Amino acid sequence: MVPASGDLCLVDRPEVPVLGPRQVRVRVLDVGVCGTDREIACARYGIPPPGQEDLVLGHEALGQVVEIGNRVSRVAVGDLVVPSVRRPCKQLDCVACQARRPDFCATGNYAERGILRADGFLVEQFVDDEEYLHRVPAELRDVGVLVEPLSLAEKAIAQYWNIQSRLSWLRRGQGHQLNAVVLGAGPVGLLGGLVLVSHGFRTSIVSRGEGPDPRSNFAESIGARFVSADRHSPDEIAEQVGPIDLVYEATGASPLAFKMLERFGTNGVFILTGEPGRKAPVEVDSPRVMRNLVLKNQLVFASVAASHDDYQAAVRDLQLFRERWPDALGSLISGRYSIDTYRWLLRCESKDMKEVFSFDPS
Ligand SMILES: [Zn+2]
Ligand SMILES: [Zn+2]
Repeated sequence: MVPASGDLCLVDRPEVPVLGPRQVRVRVLDVGVCGTDREIACARYGIPPPGQEDLVLGHEALGQVVEIGNRVSRVAVGDLVVPSVRRPCKQLDCVACQARRPDFCATGNYAERGILRADGFLVEQFVDDEEYLHRVPAELRDVGVLVEPLSLAEKAIAQYWNIQSRLSWLRRGQGHQLNAVVLGAGPVGLLGGLVLVSHGFRTSIVSRGEGPDPRSNFAESIGARFVSADRHSPDEIAEQVGPIDLVYEATGASPLAFKMLERFGTNGVFILTGEPGRKAPVEVDSPRVMRNLVLKNQLVFASVAASHDDYQAAVRDLQLFRERWPDALGSLISGRYSIDTYRWLLRCESKDMKEVFSFDPS
């Protein structure tokens, strides 16, 4: 695909013939599709690798190891793996990347597979360094494609607990009854909801739509509450929830998000995970927001990409979620499609759950 023109096509690329000693060849099984892919497919985002005009799409991948270099020790042939998306910039003065945290890269010159400056995983096979691959147990074959999007929620929540260590009495797992509000019930919001419920938050998932529908059913099946943003005003939502300790914004800066920014609670944290794309400006009661931020010790932060530990947490949690909510987890994937459907799947304005390109119909 050519980002500048938005020209999507399938191309033949030669295989990488020989592996480096720490490299791994991976056969792609599943690749999830998200809003970022659709933005790139519309030529609104994305940068091809240096010296190349086109960019291979796909960043939410699950694959199987088919060949390993002679010094690879962390994965074996046959293992299921999920590759990291963001890769460090090469600048020695970037302390974050030097510390193996490219998710906090300070230069902006990082690469993201399938998004910025590096080809993605919508290919039959790819070669990668073992350090960027995360092993996934075989029993997660059907949902392993969710590891990457889940890793984003894991990072956000890990950051939340780090930040809230400012409150000396507040610790994860100590029975505090905290209220979380998730804004948006797309896959990002629902995965965030799963993590929040599993961390003990009394969780409300706010979305358009009246329910019952697959999203409201999902929310209720994991013990969260579904709140219709069509039926309830922001004031009603805030009143129903009670003091809002955490807002997990997953709508991409909708007017509702800014309304809730005016209404979250004392010592609360507002987490932005979406990126608004090209949206119209939203009116905000800025004196109210600022007064609350100061007088209520509030904090707004944003979270993007994920660390190695966040991927590991995502793998671990997927196993837990599978045991706790077996049906709900599977329902997050609404369909698997062959690569031939790429024009339709990448161009459509999907209202479904997670849609997946599958290279392995079995
Ligand atoms: Zn994605
Ligand atoms: Zn960097």
